[in-house]
Amino acid sequence: MDVLLGLQWGDEGKGKVVDVLAPNYDVVARFQGGPNAGHTLVFDDKKHVLHQIPSGIFRPETLNVIGNGVVICPIKLRAEIESLQERGIDALSNLVLSKRTQIILPTHRALDAAYENAKGQAKIGSTLKGIGPAYQDKYGRNGFRVGDLLRKDFKERYEQLKSAHWKILEFLGASPDLEAEEKTFLEAVEFLKKVQLADTEILLNEALADGQRLLAEGAQGSLLDIDFGSYPFVTSSSTCIAGACSGLGVPPRRVGEVFGIFKAYCTRVGSGPFPTELHDNTGELLRQHGHEFGSTTGRPRRCGWLDLVALKYAVMLNGVTQLFMMKADVLSHFDAVQICIAYKLPDGTLVQTMPYEVSQHDDIQPVYKTFKGWGLLPESLSWKQNMPDELEDYMAFITAETGVPISILSYGPDRSQTAFNQNVLCK
Ligand code: GDP
Repeated sequence: MDVLLGLQWGDEGKGKVVDVLAPNYDVVARFQGGPNAGHTLVFDDKKHVLHQIPSGIFRPETLNVIGNGVVICPIKLRAEIESLQERGIDALSNLVLSKRTQIILPTHRALDAAYENAKGQAKIGSTLKGIGPAYQDKYGRNGFRVGDLLRKDFKERYEQLKSAHWKILEFLGASPDLEAEEKTFLEAVEFLKKVQLADTEILLNEALADGQRLLAEGAQGSLLDIDFGSYPFVTSSSTCIAGACSGLGVPPRRVGEVFGIFKAYCTRVGSGPFPTELHDNTGELLRQHGHEFGSTTGRPRRCGWLDLVALKYAVMLNGVTQLFMMKADVLSHFDAVQICIAYKLPDGTLVQTMPYEVSQHDDIQPVYKTFKGWGLLPESLSWKQNMPDELEDYMAFITAETGVPISILSYGPDRSQTAFNQNVLCK
């Protein structure tokens, strides 16, 4: 099993890369997160955004698995399947859903909003899709799983959990009208029975034993990990490598390549520390040139220079074996570009490793190294033939600092705008 992980705060461009890599794999699987993911793929001049379905879905010969570590919203999953069907993609034929996947109920969504409201100024910038409360119920051992939909007492158990949620909602002073949403939810639950349901941990291990190639596709990013992200401004699942094993039921010794994907700069959505954030015109230029607006929420993303302290931390946590650098074209618009190589803490100490205190201080100062910009890139970029020296220097520095080679460089949203470093590329 190879694993593809975002090394920053999400939105690194995972969708594009999985789509590029998918032909090398028989199975693509999602292992954590929920409908808060928004993976954008562009091909044949069309844009496709996937939220819960793995990015191999556009290739009929690839099996796509939603693993046990994911939390799904039946309403959104149905809408996603139907929208693919409208475009002529028969998602039901090559999609399999784990019976152990947890389900997001309408009351989870209402709870998400009520909890976030109760936090007031300290809100974490949740996408309000019910993901946090669904994971809370999973770990509180109250959760609802896809396999439960097939039980005779499904309705009774649903009512029980719903009434428990209502007690909390009332306590928090929330009284949402969920009637219409509940009707849509129950219809979507019926629809889900058309999806192939399976013990996907067995299916995946058997596929691996048969010599099939599996790509695990991460959502969000390593710096949003529930343990290692800037807590509490994090997502509610394990976005790092260990999450791939527990979220699919595949043992660690099966892990082969770990592809770490990062943007040539940084973005973050929602609240939380972001040491290299640029509040000036440079930040605005990055946002405009990079079209940095959330694909799910439409929210403007916070933008800043590449943070090597954070990148090295993510590389360490995940045991990354190959790096993929995205959006090099966005930096083409700058004469000089910067990389943060250390943090200066409020007491003056310089650190080059991620400090625990990053969650507590918003006055950590980045220390930068400046690089010459590479200007506009050729329409078709080849690693050996026309790679600008400045871009090569930028990548060589990142490789030297992280100890990991860059094997893919992306310089535009289209599948074709991808350069491969044949010396290190995945076998
Ligand atoms: P994901 O969640 O990690 O898949 O990332 P998103 O899909 O939210 O964001 C990536 C965005 O960048 C999408 O709109 C992609 O089409 C776009 N994109 C991906 N790679 C590149 C690239 O190299 N250059 C540019 N300009 N855009 C890219």
